[in-house]
Order: sequence, then C-alpha cells, then structure tokens
Amino acid sequence: VILTPEQEAFEESVRTLARREFSNGYLRRARSEEFPWEELHRLGEHGLLCLSLPAENSGQDADAVSVGLACEHLAYADFNLAYLCFASELTSALLRGLAPEIADPVVKGLASGDRLLAVALTEPQAGSDAAQLQVQATPVEGGFTLRGEKTSITLGPHAQHAIVVATVDRSLGSKGTRRFLVDIEDATVHRQRFEDPGFRPLGRSGLIFVDTFVPAHRELVGNASGLSEQLADFDYTRTLLGLLAIGAARRAMDITVEWVRDREAFGQAIARFQGVSFTLAEHDTHLEAARWLCYRALALRAAGRRYSREAAMCKWWAPRMALNAINDCIVLHGHVGWSMEMPLQQLLLDVSGLQIGDGTPQIQKLVIARQLIGREVVG
Ligand SMILES: Cc1cc2nc3c(=O)[nH]c(=O)nc-3n(C[C@H](O)[C@H](O)[C@H](O)COP(=O)(O)OP(=O)(O)OC[C@H]3O[C@@H](n4cnc5c(N)ncnc54)[C@H](O)[C@@H]3O)c2cc1C
Repeated sequence: VILTPEQEAFEESVRTLARREFSNGYLRRARSEEFPWEELHRLGEHGLLCLSLPAENSGQDADAVSVGLACEHLAYADFNLAYLCFASELTSALLRGLAPEIADPVVKGLASGDRLLAVALTEPQAGSDAAQLQVQATPVEGGFTLRGEKTSITLGPHAQHAIVVATVDRSLGSKGTRRFLVDIEDATVHRQRFEDPGFRPLGRSGLIFVDTFVPAHRELVGNASGLSEQLADFDYTRTLLGLLAIGAARRAMDITVEWVRDREAFGQAIARFQGVSFTLAEHDTHLEAARWLCYRALALRAAGRRYSREAAMCKWWAPRMALNAINDCIVLHGHVGWSMEMPLQQLLLDVSGLQIGDGTPQIQKLVIARQLIGREVVG
C-alpha cells in the first residue's frame, strides 16, 4: 500500500488537528471516569465521526484506509477519543439493516456526537464461544422482548443505543440469532459499571434486559444470522483496533526518543548505548511492519477482497508489538517512566484492553490457522 495524495493530505490534517486539540488532555481524561462529551462533539464538528458513511448520512464518504489513518493519529493524541472515532464506524450496520426512516435520525445523532452506540455481543457464558448466546428475544405482538444479561460492553455506562445480538431459537445455534437496535435508556435495561485500569472515560458495563420491548422495525435485517452479520463486521473493527494500538505506541516511542537524546549516564547521552538505541530501532521496525499490515488489510477491504486472515493478524500482532514497545519505553525512562505522572503507564493500560476486546489472540490465531492449515484439521 502506498497512500494516495488525498490520503496523505488527510493524514497530515488529522495528525495536526489531533495533536493540537487533544494531545495535552489525554492523561487527565484517561484517568477520569467522566465521559468526554465535549470532545466527542468536537470530533463530530471536525467530521471525524462516522467517517465512512455516505455524505447524505452525515459521513465523509471516507475510504477504509483513511478511516485507519484517523484512528491511528487520534490514538497518538488521545487513545480514548480514537476509540470513539473507531466506535462510530459501527453505525454503518444501522444503515445496512434498518429502514432509512428508523436509521437516519439515530445515525444523525451519532455522527454529531450527541449520542453513542455500543455493541453488545458478549455474555457471562458466551465470550470467545459466541455461538452460546443465551439472551433471549421472544417474538410478541409488534416486535420482541429481550431477557438476559450482556457483559463487558464498552461505552455501556453512557450509550443511549446498543446493537444487541440475541437468540430467538437456541436449538438452531448461531442460525437462531438476530440483531436489534435497542434503546438502553429504557427502564427495563439495568447497567452495572466495571472498575477498569484502562478505557476509563469510555466505561464498560453489563447490560441486563428484563423483558425489554424492541419494536419489529428495530431488528437489523441482513443476509445471514445476527451472529454471522456481527462476526463479519469484526474484520473491519479488528483491523482498526490494530491501528489504535500502533498510534498509542508511536506516542510512547516519540517521548522516549526525546528522552534518550537528553538523559545522560556514564558521561554521555544514553542514546549512545546500543542497548538503548537498538531497542528503539527494533520497536520502530516492528511497529512499522504491523502498521502496514493494518493498511494492507484495509486496502483489501477497499478493493472488495476477503481479509479475515489479515484482520486477525492485525488484531493479535499490532497490540502485542505496541505493548512490547511501550513497556521498553518505560524501562528506558528508568524510575521516571514507571510513574503515573507520565502517560507511558496509562498507554500500557489502555492498549492492554485491545488484546481482549473483539477477540483474544488465541481466537485470532484460530482464524489464521484455519485458513493456513484447513478448518477440517484445525477444528
Ligand atoms: C477492554 C474490553 C472491551 C470489550 N468490549 C466489548 C464490547 O464492546 N462488546 C462486547 O460484546 N464485548 C466486549 N468485550 C468482551 C470481549 O469480546 C470478550 O472478553 C472476549 O471475546 C473473550 O471472551 P471471555 O472474556 O468470555 O473469555 P473466554 O472466552 O472465557 O476465554 C478465556 C480464555 O480462554 C481462551 N480460549 C477460549 N476459547 C479458546 C480456544 N478455542 N482456543 C484457545 N484458547 C481459547 C481465550 O483466548 C482466553 O484467553 C470487551 C472486553 C474487553 C477486555
């Protein structure tokens, strides 16, 4: 992949804007549980929400690579705001699955930053093994009622809406699942907030549905079952999450490059020691490789090609490379790096969540191994 002149210009504009407007406040916001509504609105004003949506749906018609560039450079400035840019991409499922008169007002609110959408797939007994869903959608007159518990839902404490995957007929396994746009401000939906080390302003919660009514016109209609449609969206989200990790790690690297130039030990800048400079050179190499793997995956998406294998690679490998880099950046700072006064620890905590959300490294390797060796052998 080589970026087009338009993509390069877009990259430069997002990089400049993100660093100017959001970089300074990252650490303060990242430690707080207060949701950054003001910054979300600003992302909306700058056209950085729902980027890939058509212009008539408040989007920018952005190509997949450009969305990746926005995620990466926002993550450099503020990891959690980058997550909001990323999460707004999930809105496209509403346009695909709902009638325009139902989707449009919701999408408008999401693109402006007035409203938030969560995705609720995981359940207490169904994480990696997502086909074991137990949240029940029972057909009733005019729609469905939902009953059961979702868990570990990012944005759960603050979102007004959630895409909920539920089962209508458990005996059919994943084929019996459907997707719904649910108003989670409804009194029948109960939220339990988690105490987390990272993603703190975004929040994560359980959602308990106690006979929550969902009108029939809020079912997301697709070509396949609800679970299959949700899993298909994962190729895109897994790739973008890889770029969130890379953006965050690049910030740690830049801070550390400055530091090793200035900090002296044994009468010289510590950058003179190859134990220091080669460590950074190795991480530079790994991050560059992981970055371009992500853009390769997005370019395949843009070309309409399959990229599940590449997306799974991005999802397990980019956060791993990012965590390795940030960890060494902390070590190269000595005691200063271990302190919470610097953003390095917070970057580590934020990026560590990316290992698990949207599927663990083991599940990604299963996806890759199935393609490499064959599903009939790997299982
Ligand atoms: C920060 C964060 C954000 C999240 N956001 C959301 C969200 O917005 N919406 C949502 O629905 N969910 C979300 N999740 C939940 C996440 O998708 C699940 O936690 C994840 O899929 C793993 O499921 P589990 O926690 O039940 O672990 P389990 O499935 O119980 O897995 C436990 C361990 O066993 C391993 N394992 C399981 N099966 C296999 C196998 N076949 N082969 C090898 N190893 C295996 C796993 O890799 C893992 O290490 C989030 C999680 C985190 C940490």
